Amino acid sequence: MNTRVLEVNCPTCMKKVVWSEASPWRPFCSQRCKLIDFGDWASERNTIPAEAPLLDDEDDDNPR
Ligand SMILES: [Zn+2]
Repeated sequence: MNTRVLEVNCPTCMKKVVWSEASPWRPFCSQRCKLIDFGDWASERNTIPAEAPLLDDEDDDNPR
C-alpha cells in the first residue's frame, strides 16, 4: 500500500490542497487564502454596530 494522499479544496479559491505537512495552511492552499477567509469573517464582525449609540444625553456641563 502506498501513502494515501488526502486532498481537500481550499475554502477560498477551491484549489486542491494536499492534506499533509507540505501544506501548513490547510485546508487553505496558502497563507494568503487563509488570511482572506479570516479577513472575511473579521470584517463581518466589524460591521456590527456599536451597542450604545451616541446619545445626546443630559448635558452635565449645562450652565445654569
Ligand atoms: Zn486558496
